[in-house]
Amino acid sequence: MSVQDEFSFINSITPKKYKQPHLVAGIGDDAALYSGNHNVEEIVCIDTMIEEVHFNRQTMRPFHIGYKALASNISDIAAMGGVPNFYLVSIAIPKHWSDSELLEIYNGMEALADRYQMDLIGGDTVSSKHSLVITVTVIGRVHKGKHLLRKNAKADDIVFVTGSLGDSAAGLELLLKNGVDFNFSKDEQALITRHQLPEPKVEIGEILAKYPRVALNDVSDGIASELNEVASASDVTIVIEAEKLPKSDPITSFSEDKQLHWMLNGGEDYELVGTVSKENWLKIKKECEQKNYSITKIGYVIEGPAQVLIKQGDHMKLLQKQGFNHFK
Ligand code: ADP
Ligand code: MG
Repeated sequence: MSVQDEFSFINSITPKKYKQPHLVAGIGDDAALYSGNHNVEEIVCIDTMIEEVHFNRQTMRPFHIGYKALASNISDIAAMGGVPNFYLVSIAIPKHWSDSELLEIYNGMEALADRYQMDLIGGDTVSSKHSLVITVTVIGRVHKGKHLLRKNAKADDIVFVTGSLGDSAAGLELLLKNGVDFNFSKDEQALITRHQLPEPKVEIGEILAKYPRVALNDVSDGIASELNEVASASDVTIVIEAEKLPKSDPITSFSEDKQLHWMLNGGEDYELVGTVSKENWLKIKKECEQKNYSITKIGYVIEGPAQVLIKQGDHMKLLQKQGFNHFK
């Protein structure tokens, strides 16, 4: 690797100061230590990003790579109703990455970690022949018994999603076409930012965790996939209405076909999608409105086989995990 030596690299990314009071020992020993707590459940998740598979230099700057690798994990914590506390980073580095680019990857993670008072508490540094591989582990917490599972959906619930859908996929198309250095319009830049610097919805997850029996998933693969997972885990039929899917203004400059395809299958929006009882939906909607968090009702749950149906005008069709092509 181009890093002079592993030890000075680790030194350069070791935090000067830690923020989480329950951390006992961070980077510098054989493993990190933090103290447990009887009132919480610990949440842990991991995600890997590989150069040329999940990103390339055409679409992401080093800062974005670090930011997004951490964001996708934080989003998983949010989807459990929890808050993130710690992260660990394993990085496999090929020769063509410079020291300053690697530090930028860590700066990207730090920018997001600061927002949630998260500490970097460990990792691993190795060399790689061709592609940069970055694996991030996040540890978080949720109040005991308040975690949100995919299996919680029941008939008569409503289906909701936060924010807007499809923007990340639209941003990716612009980046693949023009490259990261292109002079994008303001609208285009908004879509690109959603691809490069997605915002996990931790605060909304915390609101949802206050209510009983919310089923929740984060939108990493697209709602077609996420809702099929909820339907399977809960053994219910989920119905969504195409006209109700929330979209941003900038995405409307693309064809209707592309918009719908991206909203259903685009993924990487890192919004939250789930179900809740009608009664609690009204309370959640009100609380989110007061705090200016966007959340939209997009459908409902009925008894039936584990599947997702999409209503478009008078037509009702099966929405499969992939293969949205049937629809075009
Ligand atoms: P060991 O040989 O005991 O695994 P290492 O030299 O791999 O020790 O790591 C030393 C310390 O630096 C450990 O606390 C480890 O968690 C941390 N560390 C190593 N690589 C990274 C990295 N890429 N990012 C964050 N922390 C790291
Ligand atoms: Mg090691």
